[in-house]
Amino acid sequence: MKNVYSDLKFMNYGNTLSALRSREIVPPVHIRIKPTNICNHDCWYCAYHVSDVQLGGEMGARDVMPFEKLNEIADDIIEMGVAAVTFSGGGEPLLYKRLPEIVKKLKKGGVKVATLTNGSNLKGTMADAFQKYGSWVRVSLDGYDDVSYAKARGVKEGEFSNLMNNIKLFTSSGTECVLGCSYIVGKDNYEYIYDICLKLKNAGANHVKISGVVIGNTPEENNKYHNSIKNSVQEQLELAKQLVDNSFDIVNHYHDLEDRFFKEYNTCPYILYRPVIGADCHVYTCQDKAYTESGDLGSINEMRFIEFWGDDSNQDKVYQFDPSKSCNHHCISHTKNLIINQYLSIDDDHISFP
Ligand code: SF4
Repeated sequence: MKNVYSDLKFMNYGNTLSALRSREIVPPVHIRIKPTNICNHDCWYCAYHVSDVQLGGEMGARDVMPFEKLNEIADDIIEMGVAAVTFSGGGEPLLYKRLPEIVKKLKKGGVKVATLTNGSNLKGTMADAFQKYGSWVRVSLDGYDDVSYAKARGVKEGEFSNLMNNIKLFTSSGTECVLGCSYIVGKDNYEYIYDICLKLKNAGANHVKISGVVIGNTPEENNKYHNSIKNSVQEQLELAKQLVDNSFDIVNHYHDLEDRFFKEYNTCPYILYRPVIGADCHVYTCQDKAYTESGDLGSINEMRFIEFWGDDSNQDKVYQFDPSKSCNHHCISHTKNLIINQYLSIDDDHISFP
């Protein structure tokens, strides 16, 4: 199967690389939008609700983006030529009732659409919209049966079975929308990686991404937590690889976290590739800094996103933002930032001698 998670996708956007070299602003390639901060699950490790992790310190848990604003942002995104939008949390994006209208509008306007979700509302008109207009849906989970799922998420027993049913119905429709799952591994569920991969494959999922739960703001805390289970996780992953075939893949993102925490570079190129718009109608540098003061590029409550993004003050903020000072915590884009910053460091007079 072709790689859907590569760190090198940014290479497809030479215009953005050129803009970074001359410290200009161009429309983002991809935007994450958090339509609501309301969630119907209460995961024990949720980065937006647990105080031990960095994300979401300033999040208003009941914030919901007004529909008129979301609709206006969609118009701007289409006009700007943004390539893709992913809906994510804050809260559970598929609880936003009028999301199907936005999904359809974006797709008809030439923008690819995807969502992260807990999958509880991946049914009815919501599922229809993504089946018809979505590029991918990624369902996050941690439990491997009704009891473990209810415990990890503070939901009633039976929700895991409901989720499996939603996945089966979604994938059996003949949709071209890829349904992936993200299994978050911790001490309560690491022995069930093979079992959950088998269940998800049988439900029709296209792939399962395996990642370690992030439980704190330092690599030491996280590695200490994972040290006692990491060998068993690798054994389970080896076993689960037997399930891989032409229609099902397993993506291993379970690894030590050290090198994603400390930054030695002074600009974040990835702001131009994937900024975030929160349910509070503020624009943030990325998902790891959404709802934090240091990641807040500004409010679009009183202005259109298209004006905000192209404004000189945004350009100043983007290029003055210093990860070595503001981002010494987990960063999903660190590997990509390292590669792009290496490219940006090339002397112009010598770039013609590759
Ligand atoms: S360096 Fe990482 S954490 Fe910091 S703003 Fe950039 S993408 Fe976000």
